[in-house]
Amino acid sequence: MYTYALDPRTTVLLGSITSGLMAIFLSLLARATPLPVPGLWNWVAGAWLVFGGLAMLGLRDWITHLATITVGNGAGMLGYILWLAGTHQYLGQRIRWAPWLLAWVLATAGVSWFIFVEPSFRMRVVIVAGLCCFVSARHALLWLRHPRAERFGSALGVSLVVGWLLVHCTVYGLRTLHAAWYPQGQTGLLTPDTIQVIYTGSLAICNLMLVIGYATIAYEHVRARIEDKAIHDPLTGALNRQALMDSLQRESARSTRSGLPFSVAMIDVDHFKRINDRHGHPVGDRVLVHLSRRMAALVRPNDVVARYGGEEFVVVMPETTLGAALQAGQRILMNAVQVEDQALPGFTISIGLAQWSSADTSVETVIARADAALYAAKANGRNRVEVGGSAISVETPIAGS
Ligand code: GH3
Ligand code: MG
Ligand code: MG
Repeated sequence: MYTYALDPRTTVLLGSITSGLMAIFLSLLARATPLPVPGLWNWVAGAWLVFGGLAMLGLRDWITHLATITVGNGAGMLGYILWLAGTHQYLGQRIRWAPWLLAWVLATAGVSWFIFVEPSFRMRVVIVAGLCCFVSARHALLWLRHPRAERFGSALGVSLVVGWLLVHCTVYGLRTLHAAWYPQGQTGLLTPDTIQVIYTGSLAICNLMLVIGYATIAYEHVRARIEDKAIHDPLTGALNRQALMDSLQRESARSTRSGLPFSVAMIDVDHFKRINDRHGHPVGDRVLVHLSRRMAALVRPNDVVARYGGEEFVVVMPETTLGAALQAGQRILMNAVQVEDQALPGFTISIGLAQWSSADTSVETVIARADAALYAAKANGRNRVEVGGSAISVETPIAGS
């Protein structure tokens, strides 16, 4: 007679221990994360329930039916529903609790019925494995159907979770079909036969890998948020000065290689101090946010809009000659100052333009030329674009005045 190296009690209890360790790890991660990760606490709670449920299932025959069958299965199924709820929250969607809780109550009542009233292992498998298969399938689809799914594809955590959810769903699905099709005879959850060893063993691995996936998603989420904060200006959302300098370095290297010039526009709000003095700093702040957003909408997708400091912005235009930059500058001068919001005062801007040339020894020299052109625009009356001394004045009506 063939003796199994693994018996299902070992795989279930080992699965419970690894789930418990991962639940501790995920809890510590959730407490330590420097930025909140939506849904993480649901994933944590789910991991604890999966641990508890597996522990109860692994103690079958040693504890009461109520503990191992009703509580054990109930906890495991609720754990998977909480994982689904965590993903809904992570994706900024609301979960519809009512149908899931109803399904959970019915399934838990069903397994209790099929132990206390009409004992049937076969029916218990169909109910529990069937519901778990359905939850995992819905969970995987939720990720795959999300509009950001393409971007998630490059993220390790989401790939891990989706991949293992599909394995999870397949294992539960096959077990459900097998129980529905074939009589299960004397088999029970912990019967040492091939099906039960493969079933319980693969679930233990799936649960472990899923928690690793949630932890990876949390880590990647926090890292992306921190990287985002490191390169953006918190008020306007434009790139900050450090990111601007990095972008200029990249463009100068590219121009040196390709011989194609790039241009830089330096933009400054006219008499911004007056806006602050007359309307208060919060209104001044809103003018900066407005200007930054309008400029971002007016330039090409590859152009970079950055806050240089105070009320000064820089736009970097890759592969753009001064002539083309002049058109862009005029477009910005006329359109970026349009305000629909009655609460915002009218304002104007001045723009200095410069083009990178092979004679430039550093990016600072091209910035200095744009700054000098801006200074000329201010000296020549403001509300205008200046290019290396030749002034192009475009009068814009001051909205709201
Ligand atoms: P000019 O036309 O010559 O550029 O005059 P200006 O008043 O715009 O220039 P100035 O450099 O005298 O004043 C800039 C003002 O911008 C002073 C400063 O208090 C204000 N400022 C800088 N950063 C911020 C900010 O983040 N929010 C607000 N509300 N004001 C800011
Ligand atoms: Mg100014
Ligand atoms: Mg200024």
